[in-house]
Amino acid sequence: MLTLDQARNQMLEQLSFPSVIETVNLQNAANRICAEDVISPINVPSFDNSAMDGYAVRLSDLHQSLTLSVVGKAFAGHPFQGEWPSQSAVRIMTGAMIPEGTDAVVMQEQVLLNENGTITLSERPKAQQNIRRIGEDVKKGEIVLPQGAALNAVSLPLLASLGIAEVKCYPRLKVALLSTGDELVEVGKPLQSGQIYDTNRFTIKLLLEKLHCEVLDFGLLPDNETEFEKAFMNAQKQADLVITSGGVSVGEADFTKTVLEKVGKINFWKLAIKPGKPFAFGQLEQAWFCGLPGNPVSALVTFYQLVQPVIAKLQGQKYWKKPPHFSAIATTYLKKAPGRLDFQRGFYQINAEGKIEVQPVGFQGSHLFSAFVKSNCFIVLEQDRGNVNTGETVTIEPFNHLLG
Ligand code: AMP
Ligand code: MG
Repeated sequence: MLTLDQARNQMLEQLSFPSVIETVNLQNAANRICAEDVISPINVPSFDNSAMDGYAVRLSDLHQSLTLSVVGKAFAGHPFQGEWPSQSAVRIMTGAMIPEGTDAVVMQEQVLLNENGTITLSERPKAQQNIRRIGEDVKKGEIVLPQGAALNAVSLPLLASLGIAEVKCYPRLKVALLSTGDELVEVGKPLQSGQIYDTNRFTIKLLLEKLHCEVLDFGLLPDNETEFEKAFMNAQKQADLVITSGGVSVGEADFTKTVLEKVGKINFWKLAIKPGKPFAFGQLEQAWFCGLPGNPVSALVTFYQLVQPVIAKLQGQKYWKKPPHFSAIATTYLKKAPGRLDFQRGFYQINAEGKIEVQPVGFQGSHLFSAFVKSNCFIVLEQDRGNVNTGETVTIEPFNHLLG
């Protein structure tokens, strides 16, 4: 059995970045991945300008006295024009172009207005104060966004501020989704004896939408080898990635692995994690394949831990970052058998001493989904670890935006 890290590394090595690149306007680029190094065509700011409402002054005018006449005004979008005689200041607003020769801007709060219309500075200004310099934020020719970066609510406005209207990005990932199991019923229909609702397709669809994938819903698949074969072949023609749930274990009606081996290639199948031991990763002719376990908790955990990085790479993200882990104090006893890396569902909080503490939420069986709702993190218990006593330090992995 592979460890989680081995499995992730294998997948990330085998997967390739997208080969198609599209040029789209900024609005349509939201939530995609940038396919080029974006270079700034301009300096930002593109001219020296004032950081304050106040007065532009020259230090050479302030040798004898701190009192100056006011010669004119500079507004944002309306630069000061005309002569600037000695012993005078220019009234200036935030964002206005700095008049040539300015050494400093004095904020208006530090200036006394005299009755005769002159001003007196409360102190001698420092050279360059309150001036935003050309190119201070971004230099013309600089790479502002590298290939593989996310096009989001921070990076897209940056491009907009540079006057860039279009960006090269990767297409949205097409993901085909199907649930397997004779016992499954579409949510909304009545249940017959022995049947259960199809939770996984609902869960995975929501997660895929959060990851900005285009979801192709292939519905429910009965436990029948021929049906599996037909459905897999059909799905892979239309999608970049096929995700199934159920039928991946060793039961007599578990056809995922057999069919994947027959019509495609299985790269690995079993992992030393709990929940989620059976997880199939492989390839079909034209698409990648992830087979999630049927138990809803296992399906969600394996999607979170294994499919998220797969999707990131297929979407074109250059680096998949391991989720941050923190140390926390276990406030209760945790049951754990050595052998597999365990992702228990927990609730963490900061205690009165400012330390992170965590407790498991309810029973941890992979068929028990309801406790997930009360959790805000995984308690990650190392492969070789046994039971955890109250007060011991454990590792937690707070949920990211997918489950947050
Ligand atoms: P399987 O891997 O197909 O043997 O499924 C393992 C367990 O998960 C069984 O109890 C199934 O009934 C259940 N299960 C499988 N698929 C789903 C699903 N889509 N939604 C809810 N439970 C499921
Ligand atoms: Mg099944």
